Amino acid sequence: MEEYWSKTVASVKAQVSPEVYNLWIKPLRPGNSLSDGRMEVLCHNDFAADYVRSHYGSLLESAIAVERGIHQPLTFRADPDAGNRIEEPEADPPVAKQAPPPPPPAVESLPVAVPPSASASGLMERYTFESFVVGACNQFAHAAASRVSDGPPLAYNPLYIHGGTGLGKTHLMHAVGHKVLKDRPHTKVRYVSSEKFMTLFIDYTRMGRVNDFKNQFRSVDMLLVDDIHFFAGKKGTQEEFFHTFNALYGDGKQIILTSDSLPLDMLLDDRLRSRFAQGLVVDLQLPDLETRVAILKKKAYVEGIDLQDDVAFFLADAIHTNVRELEGALIRVFALSSMERAPITMALVKESLRNILKNPERRAIPIEEIQRTVATFYKISPMDLRSNKRSREFSHPRQIAMYLCKKLTNHSYPDIGEQFGGRDHTTVLYAVGRINEKQSEDSALAKQLQSLSEMLSH
Ligand code: ADP
Ligand code: MG
Repeated sequence: MEEYWSKTVASVKAQVSPEVYNLWIKPLRPGNSLSDGRMEVLCHNDFAADYVRSHYGSLLESAIAVERGIHQPLTFRADPDAGNRIEEPEADPPVAKQAPPPPPPAVESLPVAVPPSASASGLMERYTFESFVVGACNQFAHAAASRVSDGPPLAYNPLYIHGGTGLGKTHLMHAVGHKVLKDRPHTKVRYVSSEKFMTLFIDYTRMGRVNDFKNQFRSVDMLLVDDIHFFAGKKGTQEEFFHTFNALYGDGKQIILTSDSLPLDMLLDDRLRSRFAQGLVVDLQLPDLETRVAILKKKAYVEGIDLQDDVAFFLADAIHTNVRELEGALIRVFALSSMERAPITMALVKESLRNILKNPERRAIPIEEIQRTVATFYKISPMDLRSNKRSREFSHPRQIAMYLCKKLTNHSYPDIGEQFGGRDHTTVLYAVGRINEKQSEDSALAKQLQSLSEMLSH
């Protein structure tokens, strides 16, 4: 199970932004198989369990379906070993970790046969036409994709979508697949990345089952192949893809391809390039500012989060590389807001983007200086801040100092923890959350923080 879990995670990694992967997917651990056939997935805490369940649950399930060919329902819960660390920051130094409980007796997993569906076809649930924002940058591609989703008679075959990274190629391609499955549920739709196509081809060839490979791709009604620039220089795979393409094309089946470049610019076999150019070639451009704002508002709306116009505008203006990065920035904002239990304000957004929006005027304040200033303010010694002393006399200023380190410097949580006597990053996270909470109820504290910040930021 460990083995297919890591494959599942690897395939999800290819489908989400690095931020999403690092924040939510990477920390997941496979848990037990339950007697009802579900498999447990262990998350860092309850919040993460909820978040991952609602946002990435079906993505994980479809990744498993693709890896194993079965529908494996998942259930998410906080890992008892990890979950409470945030709540008990000053716990005694870790004693030798308890050995993990022995694995439960193997339960026959109860694979459920999947009807043809989005998960079996490898489609990502949230990449639909409904969640795709249309602007001048993608109008034409969107219209073409929408026409293709109406099905036969085939208008454009293949539909070839190209554009820079993170501009919505994969999203648009999946959207067609979803629409087709919704309107005509018995259509066999298959999504595959070029890389997956290649590894499957190699694996099946090794197992001496080339025919099975051919059959699975040639029996579909609609084939979506993502990022075909990956085929550049891979002769054997190109050859096989050429045959797959011809077989489907000859049978009047729809093919959609995406790539980072125009067909004729790719280092591919001439036969393939001219095949690709036969259909309709559409491109995706970087969305303009209004469209970027609309994308942010839509994502926030989907997450059920209230995003003020000024904040959305600020983010959209600051990030103009591509939509994936825009989305990554928004996710960081959501994550920071929930971790620190603070509302999404301009200040919070600026803080979460600090590393992106480098502000050269800002003086780098050393952590020791913060420790010294806070210690003097509360009439204790800087050593006390780094010590293990747990009484409130020390723990309160310590939390304040940690909070100020986070607010006033670019140091990460682990870095700050390190400089406070080698504490865990969750302790710092906890301190920041506590101080944020306390200062909203305690105006004297808010004042103290204000004066400390001013002293330090002179
Ligand atoms: P590409 O395949 O071109 O690299 P993706 O399709 O993976 O890009 O898009 C990157 C991210 O940006 C996805 O999360 C996608 O949902 C989002 N995205 C891109 N374009 C749009 C759009 N027009 N409306 C909404 N979300 C978009
Ligand atoms: Mg893509």
